[in-house]
Amino acid sequence: MAIQPKKHEMPTQDPLVRAKNFEEVALGYSDDVAVSEALRCLNCKNKPCVAGCPVNIHIPEFIAKIKEGDFEGAYQIISETSSLPAVCGRVCPQETQCESKCTLGIKFEPVAIGRLERFVADWHNAHSGAAPSAMEPNGKKVAVVGSGPSGLTCAGDLAKKGYKVTVYEALHTAGGVLVYGIPEFRLPKSIVKKEVETLQKLGVDVETNVVIGKTLTIDELFDMGYDAVFVGSGAGLPNFMNIPGESFKGVYSANEFLTRSNLMKAYKATPDTPIMKGGNVAVVGGGNVAMDAARTALRLGAEKVYIVYRRSMDELPARKE
Ligand SMILES: Cc1cc2nc3c(=O)[nH]c(=O)nc-3n(C[C@H](O)[C@H](O)[C@H](O)COP(=O)(O)OP(=O)(O)OC[C@H]3O[C@@H](n4cnc5c(N)ncnc54)[C@H](O)[C@@H]3O)c2cc1C
Ligand code: SF4
Repeated sequence: MAIQPKKHEMPTQDPLVRAKNFEEVALGYSDDVAVSEALRCLNCKNKPCVAGCPVNIHIPEFIAKIKEGDFEGAYQIISETSSLPAVCGRVCPQETQCESKCTLGIKFEPVAIGRLERFVADWHNAHSGAAPSAMEPNGKKVAVVGSGPSGLTCAGDLAKKGYKVTVYEALHTAGGVLVYGIPEFRLPKSIVKKEVETLQKLGVDVETNVVIGKTLTIDELFDMGYDAVFVGSGAGLPNFMNIPGESFKGVYSANEFLTRSNLMKAYKATPDTPIMKGGNVAVVGGGNVAMDAARTALRLGAEKVYIVYRRSMDELPARKE
């Protein structure tokens, strides 16, 4: 059978519709499309795609399960090495990681590994929800500081190995950048919540509103009987440009703007946290965070959004999609 040269397209909301709402842009593959995309995989013996994945997901093996229609089996394979498949299937830069190494990509478009990962994780969440398998408890306790992707991944990996893990998060919601930075239209917060719930089913405790260093110190964590502490506190502080006018009303760091919109839901009709909406908006920068801010400003009702970037269009660091 001839190989289809292009990836199956991801269905999306119409651009003119989605520019006015905060719902997810990408709609996900159907069962049939996922199987058809999986059939593009050559099941390479040397598995170059796996080497391109930071957590070495067993890619050809999970894709083989999709080919057979065993979507839960595919999930169990992914979850052996990844604790956040529904998140990674949406926001991992697959085009520079696993997909950039895909053999099919030499001649055609690579296999849509990320879209398949997302499909499998969403299928599991809709149909099963069972926790991944874990080893017997080993009697060791670990405290994880911060519930961003690094903290949650560490917690998931350790829980699967039999450790008793507690995640301490300073904010009122777990997820780190996944909830305060990345907008709802790219990563719905219900998806992050599901991933956290899966970790809880594995036995991970999540304590929010606890600032390690203030509410509890690291020494106190050891006194409480933890054998180890993992610090995944992120790099959430904004870097200002130190130019005149930076403290004017209406000038936000991306961090503040996105936190108000994402975590505090300032885009809703009656928000507790205000945000400036409408008018003309200039976004300084050209990376993915700038794009998230620009797309959020547009959805909040800006008449015009300008991306102001110091280099050429071709040098924009944001994902081209
Ligand atoms: C707007 C935006 C969009 C992005 N988009 C993408 C993308 O599409 N793809 C991608 O791969 N990467 C993306 N990134 C980068 C990615 O989100 C980060 O690399 C990632 O979140 C880092 O994870 P982390 O767990 O180290 O830190 P964080 O996600 O920052 O999580 C750290 C957590 O620790 C908590 N914390 C801090 N100090 C304490 C303390 N003392 N006690 C308790 N808790 C504490 C914080 O509240 C936070 O919840 C994006 C980043 C931003 C800002
Ligand atoms: S490199 Fe591409 S074609 Fe080969 S096994 Fe991995 S996903 Fe399949």
